[in-house]
Amino acid sequence: MKLNESEYKKLAQDLLLDLFPICRSLTGEGNRKTISRLRDVIPLNVSEISSGTKVYDWTIPEEWNIRDAFVKNSSGERVIDFNKNNLHVVNYSEPIRLKISYAELKSKIHTLPQMPKAIPYRTSYFKRSWGFCMSHEEFLKLDVNDTYEVVIDSSLANGSMTLSDAVHRGVSSKEILISTYCCHPSMANDNLSGVIVATLLFKYLSEQKTNYTYRLAIVPETLGVIAYLNQNEEAFENVIGGTVISTAAGRGTLGLKQSFLGNSLMDIAARAALNKSGEKWIDYRFVPDGSDERQYSSPGFRIPTVSITKDKYYEYPEYHTSLDNLDFVTPENIIKTLKVYMDWFYNLEMNLTFTRSETHCEFQLGKRGLYPNLGGAINQGASASVEFATDLDVVTAKDLEAFSWLMFGCDGRTDLIEISNKSKMALESLYFAALKMERAGLLLR
Ligand code: ZN
Repeated sequence: MKLNESEYKKLAQDLLLDLFPICRSLTGEGNRKTISRLRDVIPLNVSEISSGTKVYDWTIPEEWNIRDAFVKNSSGERVIDFNKNNLHVVNYSEPIRLKISYAELKSKIHTLPQMPKAIPYRTSYFKRSWGFCMSHEEFLKLDVNDTYEVVIDSSLANGSMTLSDAVHRGVSSKEILISTYCCHPSMANDNLSGVIVATLLFKYLSEQKTNYTYRLAIVPETLGVIAYLNQNEEAFENVIGGTVISTAAGRGTLGLKQSFLGNSLMDIAARAALNKSGEKWIDYRFVPDGSDERQYSSPGFRIPTVSITKDKYYEYPEYHTSLDNLDFVTPENIIKTLKVYMDWFYNLEMNLTFTRSETHCEFQLGKRGLYPNLGGAINQGASASVEFATDLDVVTAKDLEAFSWLMFGCDGRTDLIEISNKSKMALESLYFAALKMERAGLLLR
């Protein structure tokens, strides 16, 4: 699996710059604009689910859109301006137009005194309300004796929530899920990074011939996933596992949030990819909070999903503030995480399950041309150190070791990862050796 790194880095850079400024939310035009830009890169299907629609225990709310919002002092200066940063408005604020005192304004302003330069991110999706967010530093500059003009030019009306997905068909109808959420306004790690990693990963996979089928869902967090699952319940019967991509490209440490099983195929393949990266990484156990794994893991679905993070949510101080910006997330970080994801899925792709064409005793390998033809004697010389040969015409001494394990292990139930664990041989060695045996008619998928 090879990546055209400069092409993908350029795409990451362009998407970061184009998508960062957009005011996204649970619903609204910002989300449509975001999906439409992503459609320049991958062929997403878009669907709309109307306000008032019931999805399991939830109801799709009214659609929220916003054009402008500000607080003006009596000299006419905008002391808070939505156009400068969309985090200034509590997301889903109802429309408002008022003249109010400092004391009234103060009760509607959220700040973070412990991080005086940061604007916090706040939402009020399910309770009609309004408010502003600002840095504590700027808040302290407000004149306590002034009166203020407060305008939120937003609308809450019947409309819809935007969902998007794409499916790349592989040989198998078994599906691997790539899920990410696109409802956060201008914050880079949470979760523009997830949206971009997911998009580039899917683009990459869809350019390959794959064994598994891959399903990508880019939808709002929580309610978007609940709606998506509700609308695609039957299709999810084919989903054997996957990932929820969130906070994936900060400047800090890589991490793995385990699935609820902890040792599922998804966990094993992801761990192997993280180990291969050579980077330090943090192992986070499963807890039923966090992101959309909450829905996928619920008893009705029980789909093991793993997240590979880089500065995991809750764990970095800039989380859910204006400091989670384009200084914090770079195209280089996106590519770094993308490569771990690629290795993870490469592990899944190589993890085939074979059965033998004849199950009794060993095969006579020599008459099939499956005896080392590279280097000298077995376990001697250079060829013994060759891990694997991708060229199916080349048989190495390492292959011979792999053939023994494959003849022993391939019983139609044991997959290559299991054989790799038992043999301590690299998955890739077993995979290419198995392809050689398959071509000789000795192994069947
Ligand atoms: Zn978040």
